[in-house]
Amino acid sequence: MAVKFQDYYQTLGVGKNATEKEIKTAYRKLARKWHPDLHTDKEKAASEEKFKQINEAYEVLSDPEKRSKYDRLGANWRDGDNFRPPPGAGGFNYNAGGGAGNGFSDFFEMFFGGGSFNGAPRGARRGPSRGQDIESDLEITLEEAYRGGEKALQLSSREVCPACGGDGINNNSFCARCGGTGFNSGLKTITVKIPPGVREGSRIRLKGQGGGGFNGGPGGDLFLKVRLLPHSLYQVQGSDLETEIVLTPDQAVLGDHADVSTLDGPVSVKIPAGTGAGKRLRLRGKGLPGRDGARGDQYVRIKIDIPSHLTSEEEQLYRRLAELRKGV
Ligand SMILES: [Zn+2]
Repeated sequence: MAVKFQDYYQTLGVGKNATEKEIKTAYRKLARKWHPDLHTDKEKAASEEKFKQINEAYEVLSDPEKRSKYDRLGANWRDGDNFRPPPGAGGFNYNAGGGAGNGFSDFFEMFFGGGSFNGAPRGARRGPSRGQDIESDLEITLEEAYRGGEKALQLSSREVCPACGGDGINNNSFCARCGGTGFNSGLKTITVKIPPGVREGSRIRLKGQGGGGFNGGPGGDLFLKVRLLPHSLYQVQGSDLETEIVLTPDQAVLGDHADVSTLDGPVSVKIPAGTGAGKRLRLRGKGLPGRDGARGDQYVRIKIDIPSHLTSEEEQLYRRLAELRKGV
């Protein structure tokens, strides 16, 4: 039995000496790029094919045992070559050959037998196994990050077909329930609890909400990486915040009190006399919780607005001020 040789290193775009980390990075980047859910219907078939190849390559190269077995094949094979296993290579399972729609190439099936998709062993040949961990971004507002709360998220789900157990085949023909893919896709809505004080880049773990398990195995976990949405009032710098207030020239010269928005609600801030444009006033402890739990500060940047229309009385007073300066 000859099958097409699969160059897994080429598929992931890494060298033969790539480290585990390099392989993982390359895989994540490609998997994100080619994930079928991120493509339009028109591109779906092509992206699904590519996605399968990427997963298959990663399945082999991320597993030291499989990788070394693969590497022992020798370096002379090129992608797509008609591959026949070398005599005495051992470990081949000719009977495992590809059931339709199982997501793996014949090469993989021949070489690694009873393959798996998304890192989980498939079909009735193996026992229960856990689904794949999935990582995704969660965009939240600054207020949600600070106070915490709940957020409904809609996820595309991909569950192992209960009718065929993921084999895609039922009674020697394509499974009618899943069309032979072994999976059923749909949308599910989940509620995410956002703990108060999460930071940009924090990860929220949702146990069992990742890829579906196989043969009754548990689902993988879903990791949500927190991304703070830009805010109209606050700029975030680590655990510090920066806001801006606009003063009139007389407020800046004479000093005043001004209301400033903070995450805890408005506070009255004392503006010292002679506060110049660009100066930053510090509101201690009004920032975001830091890694140690202590809150950062909020800085209030001063902007001075020069009035463009003056009443005649105001104009007279400004003129009088100018005369005073000149000593008239
Ligand atoms: Zn099915």
